[in-house]
Amino acid sequence: MKLCFATNNQHKLDEVSQLLGDSFKVESLEAIGCAEELPEEQDTLEGNSLQKAKYVYDKFNVNCFADDTGLEVEALGGAPGVYSARYAGEQRNSEDNMNLLLERMNHESKRKARFRTVVTLILESQTYQFEGVVNGEILKSKRGGEGFGYDPLFLPEGLNKSMAELTTDEKNAISHRGEAIRKLVAFLKERRGEYI
Ligand code: IMP
Repeated sequence: MKLCFATNNQHKLDEVSQLLGDSFKVESLEAIGCAEELPEEQDTLEGNSLQKAKYVYDKFNVNCFADDTGLEVEALGGAPGVYSARYAGEQRNSEDNMNLLLERMNHESKRKARFRTVVTLILESQTYQFEGVVNGEILKSKRGGEGFGYDPLFLPEGLNKSMAELTTDEKNAISHRGEAIRKLVAFLKERRGEYI
């Protein structure tokens, strides 16, 4: 049995494929013939993650999972949160987003933040959600060239490397998405042994 990961983000596909190894066969959107942008019009991570998974399930009739992630910065009241992708505008550009975040945090000494991911699995019309969180703080300048999105500005708690200075394996071991995907796999192993 195959499961589609409903994302157009190659970085996410790489991370999740590496995390799952051979234990699990994940198909890309391309492999199921889905070439369009997935809708994400809700105002929560839970809502967007569900909307993306449901779109693929309903339209392509395949079991699938989708994730939605937000960077929640305490001093900014949880912003950019669900609006992380288009924080600096509809161009959805990571450099612009990071520059705006640095600007908003310029004189801020309280720099606590977290990444939060919600994964929605739709399996034979049943819906399940899994959450992953990593706590940390916002750096004063960008560090590292790995990862994607806001990774160069995020210092995970207990580490002295930014998220963009970690290898994919190191990031997966501590990350929000890593935690949510491990919960998804544990669920499938426990409840649906035949799918692994
Ligand atoms: P979405 O889950 O694709 O909607 O992501 C929302 C925003 O958060 C995008 O700007 C992503 O680049 C960013 N983002 C998602 N996951 C990560 C991550 O693992 N590290 C850094 N930024 C991320």
